[in-house]
Amino acid sequence: MTFNNYIDGRWVPSRGGAVFENRNPADQTDLIGTFQESTPEDAADAVAAASRAYASWRLVPAPKRAEILFRAAALIAARKEEFARDMTREMGKVLEETRGDVQEAIDMTYFMAGEGRRLYGQTVPSELRNKFAMSVRQPVGVCAVITPWNFPMAIPSWKIIPALVCGNTVVFKPATLTPLSAVNFVGVLEEAGVPPGVVNLVTGGADVGTALTTHPDVSVVSFTGSTAVGRLVNQNAASAFKKVHLEMGGKNVVMIMDDAQLELAVDGCLWGGFGTTGQRCTAASRVVVHEQVYEDFVEAFVERTRALRVGNGLDPGVQMGPSVSDAQVATVGRYVEIGRQEGARLLTGGRRLCDGAYARGFFHEPTIFGDVQPAMAVAQEEIFGPVVSVMRCRSLDEAIAIGNGVTYGLSASIYTRDVNKAFTAMRDMYTGIFYVNAPTIGAEVHLPFGGTKATGNGHREAGVAALDVFSEWKSIYVDFSGRLQRAQIDTE
Ligand code: NAD
Repeated sequence: MTFNNYIDGRWVPSRGGAVFENRNPADQTDLIGTFQESTPEDAADAVAAASRAYASWRLVPAPKRAEILFRAAALIAARKEEFARDMTREMGKVLEETRGDVQEAIDMTYFMAGEGRRLYGQTVPSELRNKFAMSVRQPVGVCAVITPWNFPMAIPSWKIIPALVCGNTVVFKPATLTPLSAVNFVGVLEEAGVPPGVVNLVTGGADVGTALTTHPDVSVVSFTGSTAVGRLVNQNAASAFKKVHLEMGGKNVVMIMDDAQLELAVDGCLWGGFGTTGQRCTAASRVVVHEQVYEDFVEAFVERTRALRVGNGLDPGVQMGPSVSDAQVATVGRYVEIGRQEGARLLTGGRRLCDGAYARGFFHEPTIFGDVQPAMAVAQEEIFGPVVSVMRCRSLDEAIAIGNGVTYGLSASIYTRDVNKAFTAMRDMYTGIFYVNAPTIGAEVHLPFGGTKATGNGHREAGVAALDVFSEWKSIYVDFSGRLQRAQIDTE
């Protein structure tokens, strides 16, 4: 089946006529469909449609915009299972997790639709008599939404829904590896009654992304993806002073203290390290363990990791699916080799799985390196695969120093029963997200989400913080005195 772009309320093919295939990463013989390999001209058509639609959409009362979004949330909820299956088929994570991904889109859509009746500003007293002062949020214009493949419905919802509730219009370019989930999401918005041109979908790769980030009529660029591409997006959008929101890579850390509940910590590291096959921006790819409990932790962690069932995410009982692509599993292999050469100790895993049905997909053993030194590449660089690097520490201070000693700053966690240690780490880890006695993954939609340093550029998605990306503040003064009053000068 061939899927089209969605521009100005119509499902249309790319002007260039080229398409690309979308295949199941667990089974490359399974063709999911062909999608439009769009051109910069298609992107320009979508921006033009979004610009036209903005003129009327921004004037629709926010509670009315929200009514459409509430309908969309209910439609996604009704199709949760179907959308989750499509997602597992196109990007590989296990069904339980893709259900969670769709649920996050439902939660976000309900949460942000609720903002239609809030979008709070402030009223404040004026320093002058008979004068009224307030601040209101105003929409910004056309938003380009560029997303990765690892959360193919959740991440688009984090961006598109707040953009819409604020009164903006959207051109959405999903990752080439997950266009079906994008089609599913946009189809629901259409069915819910989002007017033509308000949301547009253009599938394709870097050319489409570049066309959007450089288009003069795009006012906001909201990007989630790798730090390398995020830097390019930032540079491309800078000369026109676009508002740019970047969520990028991570190298997240779990710190396990000598008083931790070790079994709980092992559970957390398994889920945080190998959930989504390690392909989460918040994946627990580093574990720093107090030397007193290092051996016990490693023994249990390795044993539990060896027992993980790897396979097609659609099979019940499978706990870890494939990597998303040939390139991604090759990257995993490359880092396993680098880790070996650096002198890290391979404790389990380390091989690509190629026997039997595995040969049709991109499977890799869940892999743990022990005795890792903080400066090694496997402890510094984002691998985005099922590889966890375990390090030793002698104290909380050392764990925090190792934890902060990377270029990224997305998520961190501590396992301890000592409240003093928990609060110290909570204060001193320079990350956007922090967990106590839980792994580095598990964000909820009503709190801000994002990272520091090379992970983000100071914005946040989710929570009401996301509204700051998709709206601008306008301060309004109403003078009803009937005379000229000069702020900072007139005293009466
Ligand atoms: P990627 O950077 O390769 O691609 C992201 C998106 O950018 C895709 O839609 C891609 O087509 C598009 N793109 C590529 N070149 C472009 C260009 N020149 N201009 C504009 N757009 C362009 O990332 P990916 O492989 O899809 O996703 C994995 C990365 O995403 C990891 O680094 C991961 O940490 C990160 N990620 C971050 C978060 C977060 O919230 N911080 C969440 C999920 C994923």
